Amino acid sequence: MSDRLQKVMAHSGIASRRACEKLIETGHVRVNGKVVNTLGVKVSPADRIEVDHTTIKTEELVYFVLNKPRGIITSSDDEKDRKTVLDFFKHKVSERIYPVGRLDYDTSGVLLLTNDGSLDFKLTHPKHQIDKVYIAKVDGIPDEKDLNQLRRGVKLERNLKSAPAEAKVIKKVGEDEGNSLVELTIHEGRNHEVKKMMSSIGHPVEKLKRISFAGIQADNLEVGKWRPLKKREIRDLF
Ligand code: URA
Repeated sequence: MSDRLQKVMAHSGIASRRACEKLIETGHVRVNGKVVNTLGVKVSPADRIEVDHTTIKTEELVYFVLNKPRGIITSSDDEKDRKTVLDFFKHKVSERIYPVGRLDYDTSGVLLLTNDGSLDFKLTHPKHQIDKVYIAKVDGIPDEKDLNQLRRGVKLERNLKSAPAEAKVIKKVGEDEGNSLVELTIHEGRNHEVKKMMSSIGHPVEKLKRISFAGIQADNLEVGKWRPLKKREIRDLF
């Protein structure tokens, strides 16, 4: 997979993307022995990149999906030394991957991890309207009026409303069928968004699972297991 030279350089940790662009434009950078001083050149992991005659070590871009269990933090590092999603990859993946967006400690399901900053940006920026599909076990059974509120957008906190979502009740569950499973598709990723949306219509979340993110599903992955994305899945993300 090829990528822009300045992006690959920035990924290798030598400087920010802006600073890498400067290095390129001022003639400090060679690709396979030839000076490249214009932006827009693409390189692949097989290309040799030198800055001032020193070869930089570049990482191949990698993409994974983890079926995150509940009770695990979505961060690279936890102050309290609790297990994080990266622990599942320890000693198995050498690239410096990190999670794309986050799932709450008590939320399970589809979580992407990559070392590709451009993908992270694309998938987490609200302007790209990426689909995130959740199944929420909620208290009670939302009626059509409640669902319509979710579809239009509900108040999350003062001065903040959720964007329009898709919402449907899948089935009634629990003792005396007092709970229900709601499928919710949202296109933004605010903190605790689903929980806030459901609380806002009076049906708080008891359990939450993400079943799809940008079209990627965990398929038959057991909870706590991960797999590399397929070539086709990566292509479809861009
Ligand atoms: N919305 C939530 O409330 N929690 C999550 O983990 C993800 C979306």
